[in-house]
Amino acid sequence: MAIRNILKDDDPTLRKNSREVTRFDARLHQLLDDMKETMEDADGAGLAAPQVGVLRRVAVVATQDGIAELINPEIIETEGEQEGLEGCLSFPGLYGIVKRPAKVTVRALDRHGEEFTLTGEGIVARAFCHEIDHLDGIVFTERAERILTPEELEELIGSRDDEADGSDRT
Ligand code: ZN
Repeated sequence: MAIRNILKDDDPTLRKNSREVTRFDARLHQLLDDMKETMEDADGAGLAAPQVGVLRRVAVVATQDGIAELINPEIIETEGEQEGLEGCLSFPGLYGIVKRPAKVTVRALDRHGEEFTLTGEGIVARAFCHEIDHLDGIVFTERAERILTPEELEELIGSRDDEADGSDRT
């Protein structure tokens, strides 16, 4: 495994559409392993392949049951709404208020090409949406109702350090 370089803010690759995965081979498995290691190293809650410069529909998301590997993921059901703070490993130090569904079910393939569905709530639901946006070339700053000022961020971290310490960046 290897830690890959995470592309940052104005890199044009982050605004491109990723292509579907059609080969479930050693190269894909290497990518998934590297993405998981890269995400953990950066203390993130999710990571999408375009963030490491690979325009393929692959994402990893931290869940209660470990890191989920999502290949060609699609949102098939949503429920409710949540409004909250969102960050991104490609935008260090930037947080915005983004509206997302409260509960999200995705259909995806695993590393062997087997289909499965997975439901997440709260931060996991948020990460599913955030990562799938990445695969469509959409970054969270485009979804944000507004971006927090440095002063607001400092205030928030002071009062809610359990939630705003950067561990929710995807
Ligand atoms: Zn992101």
